Amino acid sequence: MTRLVMLGKQGAGKGTQCALLVKHYGIPHISTGEMLRATVSEGTELGLQAKAIMDVGELVSDDLILGIVRERLAQPDAQLGFLLDGFPRTDAQAQGLMAMLAPSGIDVAIDIEVPDNVATERMLARGRADDTPEAIQRRLELYQAETEPLLEFFSSQGVLVSVDGLGTERDVQDRVIDAIERNR
Ligand code: AMP
Repeated sequence: MTRLVMLGKQGAGKGTQCALLVKHYGIPHISTGEMLRATVSEGTELGLQAKAIMDVGELVSDDLILGIVRERLAQPDAQLGFLLDGFPRTDAQAQGLMAMLAPSGIDVAIDIEVPDNVATERMLARGRADDTPEAIQRRLELYQAETEPLLEFFSSQGVLVSVDGLGTERDVQDRVIDAIERNR
């Protein structure tokens, strides 16, 4: 059983590290951003509403996100573990997640640390449609205001590990797996 949460600001290299981790542990990658982008591509009313929010770097509502995650975690492939990516991002999401998983909780929350200037460069390099300078700035602000306080929450649960996100993908991957194995 491996229940992981990937934290870290956008541009920290979460996507890359998650892709490597799910192979290593054989668990599903549950990315709320990916699930939202799939909804947007369906062109439904809900998708259009989500797109407007995502394009400017704001957060979609906690209720919507918690609903999506609850449904996903109920699928058979998530019963033996999972890697949550880009979730939780707010205190309400963290509380909602803990309520869903009670009494077991998660095994490890990984914080990949990079300075803002490196995160911004990496976001501009990947060139996603919502990676405009304004949206990047807003997402970094929201990360600091809404998501960074969750580090304290996971730390108080005794499940937080912080990993230096600078260096090659392989360097960071080795550090992440090492940190997980030492803390699970
Ligand atoms: P990401 O792929 O994680 O960078 O997410 C892309 C966008 O989807 C974010 O900028 C938000 O607008 C939205 N989003 C993804 N995950 C969440 C979440 N957990 N809570 C609120 N909004 C989210």
